[in-house]
Amino acid sequence: MKVITESRIDVVDVTQRVAEGLPNIDGGVCTVFVEHTTAAVSINEAEPRLLDDIETFVSGLSAPEGWKHDALDDNADSHLRSSLIGRSVCVPVRDGKLALGTWQSILLIEFDGPRTRSLSVMATPSVE
Ligand code: ZN
Repeated sequence: MKVITESRIDVVDVTQRVAEGLPNIDGGVCTVFVEHTTAAVSINEAEPRLLDDIETFVSGLSAPEGWKHDALDDNADSHLRSSLIGRSVCVPVRDGKLALGTWQSILLIEFDGPRTRSLSVMATPSVE
């Protein structure tokens, strides 16, 4: 699935789109993987003020400059933030639906936008 981000650091709630694209399995696990090295995926509450706080928090995870990779394309800080947060999450699937907690949402976190990002959504059935 494609996700459009709107600023250099951005947090996009993709829960509804992942749920709609979920392969049809009764039970198992859904893996959501971002196919990039300057973005990440996490699970947290999609409360607007918290999304702002996440943007502020991840901005502070890396110094903005002074990295060797910046000589290539000037985005080392984005790569480093991605490494810290991670590129995938696993969510249980029950009765064909994402079994997220009440306040849990799947968040794509952009570190080098705005861009169009690719997310892989895969579902693996339980072994019985
Ligand atoms: Zn780079």
